[in-house]
Amino acid sequence: MFIDPFGRSITYLRISLTDRCNLRCVYCMPREGLQWQPRTDQLSAEEIVQVVATAAQGGVRRVRLTGGEPLVHPNIVEIVRRIASIPNIEEVSLTTNAMMLERLAQPLADAGLGRVNVSLDSLDADKFKRITRGGDLTRVWKGIVAAERAHLAPIKLNTVIVRGLNADELPALAQLTVENDWHIRFIEVMPIGNAQNWGEGFPAPSERYVSVQEMHADLSTFNLQSETTPIGNGPARTYRIPGALGTIGFISPLGEHFCQNCNRLRLTSDGRLRSCLVIPNEVSLREAVRNGKPLEEFFEQAIAQKPEHHDLKIAMPAGSQRGMSQIGG
Ligand code: SAM
Ligand code: SF4
Repeated sequence: MFIDPFGRSITYLRISLTDRCNLRCVYCMPREGLQWQPRTDQLSAEEIVQVVATAAQGGVRRVRLTGGEPLVHPNIVEIVRRIASIPNIEEVSLTTNAMMLERLAQPLADAGLGRVNVSLDSLDADKFKRITRGGDLTRVWKGIVAAERAHLAPIKLNTVIVRGLNADELPALAQLTVENDWHIRFIEVMPIGNAQNWGEGFPAPSERYVSVQEMHADLSTFNLQSETTPIGNGPARTYRIPGALGTIGFISPLGEHFCQNCNRLRLTSDGRLRSCLVIPNEVSLREAVRNGKPLEEFFEQAIAQKPEHHDLKIAMPAGSQRGMSQIGG
């Protein structure tokens, strides 16, 4: 079983299927996109399945597919089907911008996908388009409806809160949980990805950050009640508006460490195991998987490097690291 040097069991693998994306969210990528990895550097579907099979033998039980945008991967349904059929894998889930979800929700559910997390940063169509540089809110809603219909539940919504951009929508976004069994998680913006200037009309880097404490205070009129059992094992602190069907979570990578419960390992689309979102140490297993070599030792190496905790402010000098879309946020 995979146990790290601090006694944490590694049971969760987050896979970036591709670094490519059909959107350019301001906090994630520059408008012109990034220097995409050559396709030959990226793991094939077959190679990904082999890596997950080794992970499952070592104790990984849950797999999340992310990116980049996982739904732009041409073999996404097949990848889900194959991962879901690996012995001991109990759950396959996916994080998506939902632009292509309407068509794919049912085929993905049929292939064995359990749940989806949808990124949704605004309820205002124009603002949504501005933040995502091209996203279509109507398509996202259709994707969410299709996901519900396909029983990809419970649906989680991820919202990155930025002062001067969408922080004013916190109450309206929280209100969504009253009549929908959705789990919205408000996330502090991180200095990963596009931490530079976002252009005219957007807040300056020093103005953007809103702490989860401040978000919580902004929702004080809802009288949020703390939930004793959070949904899933994620890093969110979970609350409920009294009587609401869904829940509200706060994710604070900057303000509070959730490292002590971290059970995750990441696989980048170019075949590197990464033990922490923030610390740049990576172990490449691409050549090994291509040469049919055993992969356990690469997992052991990566897990041995897992830090006890990170200090995001120190570890991420702006512009010097891989972005969220490359690591698999
Ligand atoms: N494209 C998919 C999506 O947007 O859901 C999956 C990949 S995206 C990198 C995963 C998550 O990372 C999204 O919820 C996005 O909002 C979040 N993210 C990206 N850059 C971020 C940043 N600088 N700070 C906080 N969250 C970020
Ligand atoms: Fe694409 Fe997701 Fe990054 Fe937005 S957050 S640019 S949808 S990878």
